[in-house]
Amino acid sequence: MRYDLLVVGAGCAGCMAASTASKLGLKVLLLDRKDEASIGEKVCGDALGSHHLDSLGLALPRECYHSTSPGVEIHSPDLKSSFVIEDESLRAISLDRRAFGQFLLRQAISAGAELVDRFHVSSPIFEGGAVAGVRGIGKDGARAYGARVVAECSGTASVVRRGIPDAEISRPFPKEDVMACYREVRRTKGEALDRLQIYLDQEKTPGGYAWIFPLGEGMVNAGLGIRASEGASPKEAFLEHVAPMEPLAGSTLVNGGGGLVPTSKPMDSMVYDGLMVAGDSASTVSPMHGGGIGSSMLSGKILAEVCAEALSAGSVERKGLWEYNKRYMAAYGAKQASLNVFRKFLQDSTNEEINFGMAHGIVKPSDVLLASKVGDLNLSITDKATRAFRGIGKLDFLVRLRRTARVMKAVKKLYLEYPDFEGFAGWVAKVRAVESSLKPPKKRRS
Ligand SMILES: Cc1cc2nc3c(=O)[nH]c(=O)nc-3n(C[C@H](O)[C@H](O)[C@H](O)COP(=O)(O)OP(=O)(O)OC[C@H]3O[C@@H](n4cnc5c(N)ncnc54)[C@H](O)[C@@H]3O)c2cc1C
Repeated sequence: MRYDLLVVGAGCAGCMAASTASKLGLKVLLLDRKDEASIGEKVCGDALGSHHLDSLGLALPRECYHSTSPGVEIHSPDLKSSFVIEDESLRAISLDRRAFGQFLLRQAISAGAELVDRFHVSSPIFEGGAVAGVRGIGKDGARAYGARVVAECSGTASVVRRGIPDAEISRPFPKEDVMACYREVRRTKGEALDRLQIYLDQEKTPGGYAWIFPLGEGMVNAGLGIRASEGASPKEAFLEHVAPMEPLAGSTLVNGGGGLVPTSKPMDSMVYDGLMVAGDSASTVSPMHGGGIGSSMLSGKILAEVCAEALSAGSVERKGLWEYNKRYMAAYGAKQASLNVFRKFLQDSTNEEINFGMAHGIVKPSDVLLASKVGDLNLSITDKATRAFRGIGKLDFLVRLRRTARVMKAVKKLYLEYPDFEGFAGWVAKVRAVESSLKPPKKRRS
């Protein structure tokens, strides 16, 4: 049996790819190493912005989430300033991750996708240089499955992508672009938090942040992420810095665990001959906050739509699948690329600079809201503010922030002009040139 589309990984990206492709009439096989009942279980912050569901047209059954809250509160490192980010279109949903994953899986199966669970994919198989299926080990031993197109949706495992003989597609993400996370679900004794809490601190959580998200009925999801290149243990950092925080006083552990999150821009190209990559494996997570559930589903949906078109045109080599890159970059990748520039700015800023910037309204809550919605940073910096910054010796921070906003705009424009297959190498060179115009400061942390 040769399938039209073989999806590796029944996570958010894979289930969405499988259900969309099946609805479009493709013969779809979905493989996952987990047993069917465990699909959806994942160490996660469990938070999803409601706008993702709206744009995907997904109505979430009540059993898929614990609670909703009006938004997020972001705290400065000295805890003296906080930004409340709220918007009717951006309500935060605290998911029951397993129930949500099972809901996505049921959507795929009821649309016609065939599931083989407890099948551990080990590598791609090739025909004439193009990906033509995968091999692995399942309940009945080793075997291979063939397909006209393979969708790599195995998350950070990236088990298919890593086996492609092309340096760009198989490249592991640099550790500077990956967050090492640890989180605990805890039952608290305190008052329920009314919104998601985010704590910035470049010394306790270098390159990342800590969070406490309400799950309802006194339960919280609390954790932190640290840039993986720091080599620090996120669990130790959690126990030292997050566990003693006031909202967790007297709380008891329900469960804990760690995981990796790629927090950068998408891969330059997410296709190879016979292969399309979506979700964490393609680095579709928002670099602003590390949320990847919504964008992984979006990438899976676009992948399936382009796959159906390419199959009916009879062209599943890189050029035939190229439209997937274009549509994803227009829908989300351009915003990600812009926010990736902002992420680097934040990571290069000291606690003192972040405290100062938040206290003096250099970036305001409305700016953060706009950035998270469309990826733009509009600065309200007046000449008066510039003079004040010069007076207190922080002009360098202001200059860097202005330059960051300019580069964000330029990068976003380039991504919105994502090239045809033929223009790819030239486009990559332009992106690199713009990005490298922003140099990190000599001194990184205070
Ligand atoms: C600690 C932590 C906190 C996070 N918090 C949030 C948050 O609050 N909000 C948010 O939006 N995002 C969050 N994320 C990110 C989010 O979880 C991911 O972006 C999202 O799950 C990506 O979906 P995916 O389908 O690409 O991958 P996954 O959900 O990881 O799915 C991959 C699937 O592939 C399967 N698989 C892997 N290897 C193989 C193999 N060899 N053979 C067969 N199957 C295989 C796995 O079993 C899994 O089912 C967090 C991540 C972590 C680690």
